[in-house]
Amino acid sequence: MAIIIDGKKISADIKEELKDKVSKLKDNGVQITLVVIQVGNDPASSVYVGNKKKACEYIGINSISYELPESTTQDELLDLVTNLNNDASVNGILVQLPLPKHIDEDLVIQTISPSKDVDGFHPQSVGALSIGQKGFVSCTPAGIVQLLKRSGISIEGKECVIIGRSNIVGKPMALLMLRENATVTICHSKTKKLSEVAKRADILIVAIGKQHFVTKEFVKEGAVVIDVGMHRTDNNKLSGDVDYEDVFEHVSAITPVPGGVGPMTIAMLMNNCVETVTIK
Ligand code: NAP
Repeated sequence: MAIIIDGKKISADIKEELKDKVSKLKDNGVQITLVVIQVGNDPASSVYVGNKKKACEYIGINSISYELPESTTQDELLDLVTNLNNDASVNGILVQLPLPKHIDEDLVIQTISPSKDVDGFHPQSVGALSIGQKGFVSCTPAGIVQLLKRSGISIEGKECVIIGRSNIVGKPMALLMLRENATVTICHSKTKKLSEVAKRADILIVAIGKQHFVTKEFVKEGAVVIDVGMHRTDNNKLSGDVDYEDVFEHVSAITPVPGGVGPMTIAMLMNNCVETVTIK
């Protein structure tokens, strides 16, 4: 019988641990502050920002939010980020993506001080990950490693196939699995014989952005399947990149959508916020 990897429970456990750490830090006079910046009022971004604020409140992290109008100029945003970089009372800075089209996202990310880069998107953070140095790790991939470890699934020596090579999921995921001593293959839209390659995986991680793309033809008997995808169906339910019903009988463990990878992202963001005072 397959294990259903419980991201809700694991993320709740992590948040409890962090709450405890934050309380101890407060006892020692250390208060953590996260600044979240949203430009414009994209409804999905507003929901994400709201959830981040709630998580901060629960854990005991002070959250400050800037809700800036769509008309904010790139220079205004860069100035704000620079001021926050120089503000010693601010530990973490998060700029909610996507930004309006007239603002260069890469430039904004590069302007955030790497020591406050709790999203782990700054080139220095990515570089540190790739050469095994300390730095913030992108939250969703970091959450997946926690899901595996806390579900008792060993990574070392395993064949890991990742479908998707985005900068926020696929690539950092590959680097993390390499750091955990897996043998890693990264697939993308130009990969030939994708289902055959995927079938080599002991651990198959799918971050492709196509609903129910991965069926049993992609899954080796007994594989662990991690579904990063998130899609809203016509009847307003969430579903993933993996056809859960189709693959279920073939896997040894699988993340459901919702309740798998999704809840881990915010938990790991909170972890990065706590690391702003412990990582140095
Ligand atoms: P993305 O930037 O769109 O990247 C998708 C990747 O999949 C690309 O590397 C693309 O290849 C590859 N791909 C697309 N079609 C393919 C095909 N037919 N065969 C093989 N590879 C293919 O997406 P993302 O940001 O990584 O997100 C992926 C999914 O995860 C989305 O559903 C997103 O909503 C979800 N997500 C969830 C969370 C969470 O917290 N749970 C966080 C982030 C993302 P190319 O590079 O060749 O184009």
